Amino acid sequence: MVLIAFSWDDGADEDMKLMDLSSVYKIPGMFFIPATNPERKVLSAENIKKIDNNRFEIGAHTYSHKYLSKLPLTEAQVEIVSGKDYLEQLLGKEIAHFCFPGGKYNSELIKMTRRYFSSARTADTGSLLGRGAFLIRPAIHFYDRGKLSLLYNSVKNMSLICPAILKNLSEDRYFDLIKKIIEGLNTYQGIHRMIVWGHSWEIEQFSLWDDLEDFFQWLTKNYSSNLRNYSEILKSDNISDL
Ligand SMILES: [Zn+2]
Repeated sequence: MVLIAFSWDDGADEDMKLMDLSSVYKIPGMFFIPATNPERKVLSAENIKKIDNNRFEIGAHTYSHKYLSKLPLTEAQVEIVSGKDYLEQLLGKEIAHFCFPGGKYNSELIKMTRRYFSSARTADTGSLLGRGAFLIRPAIHFYDRGKLSLLYNSVKNMSLICPAILKNLSEDRYFDLIKKIIEGLNTYQGIHRMIVWGHSWEIEQFSLWDDLEDFFQWLTKNYSSNLRNYSEILKSDNISDL
């Protein structure tokens, strides 16, 4: 059986559209939001509260979306802590989950984020969640980086996604391949947990809204009982990796 959770990075304006679409199809989601971002506009405090009020989860993504591995450790710490504080003060609740900007991290940064959060997400693909993992490696990017890149990562991570890809390599459309992977994982014994990640601005930039809606529709129709909140899927204890 497969369990699926979604996480969306960067808190771009298009997150509001993503939130609405997720609400229509009852798809839970985690939104990792920085306070500012030099690359693009970030959601207003009011809109971040709206996402929270709509029962979506919110996680920290540093204060100003800086790639932490390029910073001195003390500066990285300020980014990590002030990004968490910003959201906690805004929402009046603990922010327990973190995501590395640009997927950039190293062992020192993992150690540091452990002090403040119960998990830290990367920007990889091809992994299923292992037992009690702190570092959360996603399975799928909701953007086509090519099926060979996904296959390569799934082999590297010795993930059960690999046989599901190999069986369906003839699928031309990336999003059809994702569906086949989910179908495949759902037939394997045990519980297999996958994180899908993406960016609403990317969905806008590459005109993927119809693909996303089609995917949500398909999930709601076939896998509504397999969808989980991000924090919930991390707690489940069954392992999936080979
Ligand atoms: Zn980001």
